[in-house]
Parts: sequence; C-alpha cells; structure tokens
Amino acid sequence: MNKEKILKAGKIAKQIRKFAKSLIKKDMPLLEIANKIEDKITELGGKPAFPTNLSINDIAAHYTPSHDDETLAHGLLKVDFGIHVDGWAADTAFSLDLEDSEQNKKLIEAAEKALEKAIETIKQGTTTSEIGKQINKIIESYDFSPIINLSGHEMKQHELHAGLTIPNFDDNKNISINKGLYAIEPFATPGNGKVYDGKPSGIYMLINEKNVRSPIARDILNHIIQEYQTLPFCSRWLVKTFGTKALFGLKQLEDNGNLHHFQQLVETSHNKVAQAEHTVLISDEKIVTTNQIY
Ligand code: MN
Ligand code: MN
Repeated sequence: MNKEKILKAGKIAKQIRKFAKSLIKKDMPLLEIANKIEDKITELGGKPAFPTNLSINDIAAHYTPSHDDETLAHGLLKVDFGIHVDGWAADTAFSLDLEDSEQNKKLIEAAEKALEKAIETIKQGTTTSEIGKQINKIIESYDFSPIINLSGHEMKQHELHAGLTIPNFDDNKNISINKGLYAIEPFATPGNGKVYDGKPSGIYMLINEKNVRSPIARDILNHIIQEYQTLPFCSRWLVKTFGTKALFGLKQLEDNGNLHHFQQLVETSHNKVAQAEHTVLISDEKIVTTNQIY
C-alpha cells in the first residue's frame, strides 16, 4: 500500500465533501453537480475514482447523470464520489435532505451514526461480522433497516472492490480485519432493506481487453485502457471526449464482452434510502482518510 497516495486522495475527498455540501441546492441539475465535483477533483490534483453517484430517494446507488440528463436535485439525495491518486482511492458519501422531511433527517442520522460506530469498531483482529452487527444495531435503534445486499469493501490499487466486504448486518462470516484500505458504507431505509438491479446506469468497467472490429469501439477501448484501467467510468465522460458516437461504441464494447455495465440499485419496496461512507486505512494506526485532521 502507498500511504502517501492514499492520504493525498483522502485529503482531496475531505475538501470535496465540503465543496459539494456548499454547492448543492434543491433544483440544481444533477449534471451540473457531477461536472463541478469532478472538475474540482482534477483541480485539486486527483482524478475521479468512479463517476459521481447522485442517487435520489429509492435509488440507493449507481445513478450518475448521462451527458443530456435533465434531472434536478430533490428529495433524499446521496452524493457518493471517489478520488484516486495513481489508483489508490478514497471513497466517501453523504446524504442531503432537499425537501425538509423529518424522516429524511432521521434516515441520514441513522446512516451517519452507524458509520461512526463502524469506524470505532474496525481494527486489526475484529471481524467483518462484528462491524456489520454494530451497523445493524444502530440503524434498527432508529426503527429502520440496513440494506443487506449492499456492503462496504476493501480497496486495492486500481481496484475499488477487492478482497473483503464489510456487511451492513451480522452475516456470521467472521472474517478477520487485517491491515488494508476499507470503505465502510451503511445504508438506512424504512423499507425492506434490499436493492434490486434497475435500469442500466451508464456506468461501466473494463473486464476484458479483447479485440473489437469497429474502429470507433477500438478507439474507445484504447482510451478506457489508458485513462481508467479497471476503475469505473461513465458514458458522460466518453461523450465529452468522442461526442455522442461514444454511445454507439460503448454498446459494441458491451456486446463484445469488453465491459461490465452496472445497473441502478433500487430499494425493493421503493422506500427512501440514506447513505454515509468513509474510507479507513488500517495499518499500525487507524486513519479515516476521508476525514483527516490536518
Ligand atoms: Mn462510495
Ligand atoms: Mn464504496
């Protein structure tokens, strides 16, 4: 692990949290929010580790605006973004109540308190199940459920989801936490506590570099290999570089088996979902990289 790069990515993430919180207002286009966050990440010397997720209400995750998106910020908005420095990522999220709803505020508090408890609990030798148990306990104390099929995750260089997963409930797997870089992300909902695969998100990841016949698809594939490697990217980014013909090329790459296309993750009972997330480095000490004091 490269501690210096991990801490640098985390420091930018903390600045972006502050920037995004002051930027986002009700009825602002999601497209504008995503572009401003991602431009600011670059300005601060990082790169987006994945497309900014701006998921509203019952969409728990994996909504990123398309190049022509017209959705305006409203409801219970999850702002989930990542920064990487040479493939070492900081992954963080917060939720905003844009409709002055008591329930939204309670959901946000439940997710945040669960995250705080999880950060307190994680250390070398504790288990992933123990962290999940504590998350579940806090969220249930608010009379909500965690989303059980979404989880935190270990991160390695150029790999956002690698190694261990950190459940949001006690899954009885009892896997020990070792030194590593972990994202912890509780989700709280008054609903069933499960998500299903919804519409295609426009978020993709490279899974195979095999040759593709169409010249535009080949250009896009080479660009992906160079720019994103195995980190997620989105159609909006490629439209910026290649114009709207990128959409055609992406379809060909998906059909050819080069790309995995992520789907939007929607709460099964269509209830609202709040999320909180931080990245924690476990080495000889514990550092919440996305909330460093400096
Ligand atoms: Mn995240
Ligand atoms: Mn994450």
